[in-house]
Amino acid sequence: MPSEPQPGLVLVVEDNAANLMLTKALLERAGYRVVAARSAEEARDRLHESLPEAIIMDIQLPGEDGLTLTRKLKSDPATTGIPIVALTAYAMKRDRERILAAGCDGYIAKPINTRTFLADLRTAIQRDRASGEA
Ligand code: MN
Repeated sequence: MPSEPQPGLVLVVEDNAANLMLTKALLERAGYRVVAARSAEEARDRLHESLPEAIIMDIQLPGEDGLTLTRKLKSDPATTGIPIVALTAYAMKRDRERILAAGCDGYIAKPINTRTFLADLRTAIQRDRASGEA
């Protein structure tokens, strides 16, 4: 696994093709480069190729789910410092707690609001940086 995150690179883990296309388009329009994965297994393969600046993580994935993958990435020294923003259709309070307990730095509710998506993402990432964790 590479040791340094690449500035401007975002890994999107999302099994829904429409959500992946929309997320990718919004990020690329804002100048990010996007690497996509459709499952936890694919995400691990992509992370061995390059470390992103941030990860957008769908919770419901085929096979290993997004929260399980998040727990593993946050307990791995190589990936623990990468902000992870959950994408979830469940914006209820108990799900929010479950998401943050798994180690996610924030979450964005689906359906994605195209007008606020980038601001929501930056807020989640900055919250992580402000906490002082490298
Ligand atoms: Mn999904």
